[in-house]
Amino acid sequence: MNTDTARVVKKIGETRDITSLFIDGYGEAFGKRRAGQFLTLKLLRDGAWSRPHPFTISCAPEDPLLRVTIKKLGEFTSMIPDLEEGAPVIVSGPYGLFCKDIDAHKDIVMIAGGVGITPFLSVLRHFRNIHADNRVLLLWSNRSMEDAFAVEELAEMSREMPLRVVHNLSRETEASALSGYAKQAYPQVYYEPGRCSRDLIRKYLPAAGPAMFLCGPPPMQDYVLGEIAALDMDPGIVQKESFTWKASG
Ligand SMILES: Cc1cc2nc3c(=O)[nH]c(=O)nc-3n(C[C@H](O)[C@H](O)[C@H](O)COP(=O)(O)OP(=O)(O)OC[C@H]3O[C@@H](n4cnc5c(N)ncnc54)[C@H](O)[C@@H]3O)c2cc1C
Repeated sequence: MNTDTARVVKKIGETRDITSLFIDGYGEAFGKRRAGQFLTLKLLRDGAWSRPHPFTISCAPEDPLLRVTIKKLGEFTSMIPDLEEGAPVIVSGPYGLFCKDIDAHKDIVMIAGGVGITPFLSVLRHFRNIHADNRVLLLWSNRSMEDAFAVEELAEMSREMPLRVVHNLSRETEASALSGYAKQAYPQVYYEPGRCSRDLIRKYLPAAGPAMFLCGPPPMQDYVLGEIAALDMDPGIVQKESFTWKASG
């Protein structure tokens, strides 16, 4: 295990409740990280270190700073937007096997719900950096585009590599209006209303049996796996990451 006292060197507000932190001063073990892995983070508050909380490293493994992209939920994550640049943090890791060997698959389907996009952002940023030719379909569910981030970056990636991005939005009118714009500027970016249903999956699913990866809130995962089963596909082939986090001790 690797535990390092590091520093927040930059902070970006991604949406109204999602913030990215860029961390420097981490130890050697992170230099060997793979796309999709996570770290644990401790913050200093009132002179004492917090308990560790897990967050996916959302940047590419070759990027010089560690980046974590964190949604505000409870006590710990509510402190993130107020962190000052230069704030000390303790990071441990890297941990996890999600997306391990993902690059071995020619056709890849990534299904994300909300901030569950972070492991896929790491993989896609890596693929872009190494000019990978893996064909990727990203189905990303959010309530609206206000909840999405890295949108332009993903759109640009869709012009640079074999990537199709489907923004799956529960606010139907917005999704319809955006479709026209997307077709002109970014032919491989799509906007679809509603949930990540069997019809939506069927519409975009590549013909050649792709490797499938899923990361999102548990109810969303259950729904998507049910829809995949309804397509006569085995939900067991889907590799999953759960962000479920229970503080202990
Ligand atoms: C492997 C792994 C990777 C993760 N990567 C990321 C990441 O990249 N970005 C990110 O924002 N989060 C990520 N998480 C989730 C993150 O660790 C938790 O959201 C965070 O630790 C919650 O701490 P908190 O004290 O703010 O909230 P808590 O006080 O623990 O929870 C606040 C409220 O939110 C609910 N809640 C907590 N977590 C979730 C959840 N995941 N989904 C729905 N409701 C929840 C709780 O039940 C509670 O009601 C990851 C978790 C794991 C296990």
